[in-house]
Amino acid sequence: MATPAPDDVTAAQQIAAQLAQRDGLSLFSFWPDRLRHSALILLVAGLVLAALAVFGELPAARAVAAFVCIVCAALVPWRLHNSDIITSEALASDPVQAPAVSAILTGLPDPTVLLDRAGRVIHLNPAAAQLAPALRTNEPAQFALRSPEIVTALREAIATAEPRRVTFLDHGPVDRWMELIVTPVAVPTAFGGRDYCMLMTFHDQTPLRRVEEMRADFVANASHELRTPLAALSGFIDTLQGPARDDPKARERFLGIMHAQATRMARLIDDLLSLSRVELSAHVRPSTQIDLLPLIRQVVDGLEVLATERQVKIETELPEQPAIVAGDREELLRLLENLIENALKYGASGGRVIVTLATVAAADAVPEIQVRVRDFGPGIAPEHLPRLTERFYRVDVGDSRAQGGTGLGLALVKHILNRHGGRLLIESVPQHGATFTAAFPQAKSAT
Ligand code: ADP
Repeated sequence: MATPAPDDVTAAQQIAAQLAQRDGLSLFSFWPDRLRHSALILLVAGLVLAALAVFGELPAARAVAAFVCIVCAALVPWRLHNSDIITSEALASDPVQAPAVSAILTGLPDPTVLLDRAGRVIHLNPAAAQLAPALRTNEPAQFALRSPEIVTALREAIATAEPRRVTFLDHGPVDRWMELIVTPVAVPTAFGGRDYCMLMTFHDQTPLRRVEEMRADFVANASHELRTPLAALSGFIDTLQGPARDDPKARERFLGIMHAQATRMARLIDDLLSLSRVELSAHVRPSTQIDLLPLIRQVVDGLEVLATERQVKIETELPEQPAIVAGDREELLRLLENLIENALKYGASGGRVIVTLATVAAADAVPEIQVRVRDFGPGIAPEHLPRLTERFYRVDVGDSRAQGGTGLGLALVKHILNRHGGRLLIESVPQHGATFTAAFPQAKSAT
């Protein structure tokens, strides 16, 4: 919350004091407003009656009787009216309600403030005190919450007795998007009437906003990635229908490029679908017992053609005994494919890729099965490492596209590992290659 500076708080307190003085007739300043008015009326009436009695215009007994009637007339409506007003002092000093209300508010995790109808603080919980340290009980909340959105919402809720909801940016050490809901709460009064307290609750909307921004970024990136090959395809279709119509050589070349672009689109759609499938089942841990060794051999065999094409030799260092994890076969194949294919594509210049599997014992935890894919290519600069698993993040977009990459491979790897209770480690020294390690908890029955 934009907390007012101490100077501002003092200024606000001075204004409050001035207002009290201006309204207030220091003689009666400790009396409630309405009693003060009654006392004034009685004072004037008493003086007039006394004068009439002194000057013999009214018998003394009648003057006294008239004064008693006026006293009753002045005090009874005040008593009635006053018992129908909820004030911060009244609620806060109520021996039954005050501790209960205060305890409920304290138990609420979100910042919450209870105000009387004049906007003065009756109770606030520790979260609210942390959000707006200038809030004080029995003082108007407006002085402590100076954000115009909050003040307007509070004023409107008080005036209309209708709930109000506003979102505002709280400039603190870390900026946060907060939502404030002001809810008028009807409170029954002693003489069967009804008055309102104002309940202000604050909710941190920052995580929601962040997710919303990420979703918007994702949609923008995905459409951009799809539109690029689509634009190329429609460009070549136009050329083939026009200038290259009767040029068999150009037609062959363009059809080749169109085929590559269509494959890229298909791959992107495949990756997007896989990613959303993994996300959908993110909270369901796979339970099938799977041996990782045959999966590694299957993926390495499948990538031999690519390895030969890139002139890279794939070496494996695998143990004899099975490496069992609780997993989803298709997802594990996808994960291994992505890691080994990346090593072949981006680390081709090293001429070697080593795939290792090892079981690593941990002191108090389940042993880990680690699949390590190491290449000897150009490696990755340290500033890129933390962002590699973001969707569509690429060190070199042109290079990735030239390799048929979508920028989704490592994001998929990370999500698959999360679902399997595992983790991804990336190590790289520029010019000395990169090592990607997928670590899984060993399946319980295997341990
Ligand atoms: P892509 O579809 O572009 O391969 P990935 O998510 O699989 O997307 O990889 C993201 C980026 O990480 C790649 O574009 C590449 O720049 C970098 N990268 C991945 N693996 C390696 C590697 N073994 N060596 C160097 N860079 C790599």
